[in-house]
Amino acid sequence: MRLLIMGPPGAGKGTQGELLAEHLGVRRLSTGEMLRDARAERTELGREAQRFMDAGELVPDAVVLGLVAQAMNGSGPTAGFILDGFPRTIPQAEGLSDLLARRGTPIDAVVLLKVPEEELVRRLTGRGAEEGRTDDDPATIGRRIQVYYAETEPVVRWYGETGVRVIEETGTGSIEEIQASLRERLSL
Ligand code: ADP
Repeated sequence: MRLLIMGPPGAGKGTQGELLAEHLGVRRLSTGEMLRDARAERTELGREAQRFMDAGELVPDAVVLGLVAQAMNGSGPTAGFILDGFPRTIPQAEGLSDLLARRGTPIDAVVLLKVPEEELVRRLTGRGAEEGRTDDDPATIGRRIQVYYAETEPVVRWYGETGVRVIEETGTGSIEEIQASLRERLSL
């Protein structure tokens, strides 16, 4: 099973994606985590990414596409995966589709988690206080949500138009309920 998990910042992509990945026995690849790792390791790429992340902006497409291509090469041609937080722009989606076409492993479905904006802000503000994520401060949170609607929501429509199944799921309610509903809808 090859899935994308999409939705605004704070929608629960990481949480639901990880549970689905465990259930399926596939890898979850999160570009946000890859970028945070690069930043923590103070690699050149990490330092370049940091200023975009701290401003709530997207890291340039070429950088992110490079990371994903590298991570994908580590898995077998038919291995399943869950991509979390990628693609976030149309060029990233096009780049991913080229990459997957070359491997002969297209996406099976896109999961879209929907959460009202005031709830997103509440969750991200709480997470900033708990986990000390530097991009979870109020100004940056607002910008990230804005960037999501401008750049990433069109990607969900793009998948729908190209014939990929898009499963819209309400991302409020308990973690277990949402997970159960996703598994049922994906027949897992
Ligand atoms: P969230 O979904 O909660 O915003 P992520 O961990 O997915 O958190 O992303 C954190 C930050 O990392 C983003 O605000 C962005 O700066 C950068 N980032 C992650 N994935 C991508 C991507 N696919 N393209 C560009 N930037 C990305």
